[in-house]
Amino acid sequence: MGNKIPFNDFTADPFLLRKEIQDAMQRVLDSGWYILGKELELFEKNFAAYTGTRFCAGVASGTEAIALSLMALDIGPGDEVITTNLTAFPTITGIMQSGAKPVVVDIFSDTGLIDYRKVEAEISGRTKAVVPVHLYGQSCDMTAIMHIATKYGLHVVEDCAQAAGATFREQKCGSVGVCGAFSFYPTKNLGAYGDAGAVTTSNEEIYFRINALRNYGQTKKYCHDLPGINSRLDELQAAILNVKLKYLDRGNQERRRLASLYRDRLKTVECLKEEPYGKSSYHLFVIKTPFRDALALNLQEKGIQTLIHYPLPVSQQKAFLWQNDRVFPESSGFAGKILSLPLYPGLSDQRVDYIIKSINEFQQ
Ligand SMILES: *Cc1c(COP(=O)(O)O)cnc(C)c1O
Repeated sequence: MGNKIPFNDFTADPFLLRKEIQDAMQRVLDSGWYILGKELELFEKNFAAYTGTRFCAGVASGTEAIALSLMALDIGPGDEVITTNLTAFPTITGIMQSGAKPVVVDIFSDTGLIDYRKVEAEISGRTKAVVPVHLYGQSCDMTAIMHIATKYGLHVVEDCAQAAGATFREQKCGSVGVCGAFSFYPTKNLGAYGDAGAVTTSNEEIYFRINALRNYGQTKKYCHDLPGINSRLDELQAAILNVKLKYLDRGNQERRRLASLYRDRLKTVECLKEEPYGKSSYHLFVIKTPFRDALALNLQEKGIQTLIHYPLPVSQQKAFLWQNDRVFPESSGFAGKILSLPLYPGLSDQRVDYIIKSINEFQQ
């Protein structure tokens, strides 16, 4: 196959109606209103309904969705927040932006998700919240996490950046904890054409606080009751998201179909365990193999682009100043074996066949 297979191709999405998006953007341009207007209000209503929560507040990014959720819960300097050692670093950035100190725990090696059995040992008098990350679109075991949180009086803010449309039992991810933090970064399952994010919640007070905090802490015009920041989702991105939200389920369904092709036919590498309690949004399709680096190189030579999510656990990053002397054997081992394969709506079955065949034929 002469054609290269890119890791991602946003322009290939067969569900994307260009005309519909162009019309939505034109409508915003013509309206003369670009921040905190009708498009955002509509998106917030639509996305709350989609996730099965009472409220949604659009914010500037997934990172700030996490930071603002914690700030709204009155979590900040002097407090600790427990999360996973294997995540996109912005989970940590968001916690640090609130002023709280992130504390990480090790993962389950068959899914890469936070090992909730290890949370309890890290709880101190300063611990205020847990931020489970629905990594790659797989839901964490929220029953187990909510149980620990309730026992110790901790808040749960779900990092749903990779899990738009994913479910835990009968619920959407982002509707189980007090807040769900979403990212609409272009690569996510629900991607804008720039930076964007949102917080979902069914707690009215938290919703009002986030609404104010994202807009200089303003509760009424020129009345600043809270020490806020500037973190808004603009009208242009909201209008685009209103269109794309309609196609999110179809996109996720297609991701799941392609994932099952990989699962059924990959012979020589390990696929992650699919937990029976939830439906993954398959943000990423991740395999595990001890020959990861050699395989990635071989696929690259065949024109297949792969990536690693993530090559370094949080505890090994220089910006993470605590727990550096600690050993997290599962996350280190996992990070050394994982490889993400191309997976997106618009990736043809033929190309998936070619990727599967290339991997099955690879000999170390
Ligand atoms: C993308 C991502 C974020 C951050 O979202 P931004 O919109 O880029 O700030 C946070 N957590 C996880 C798990 C992510 O994948």
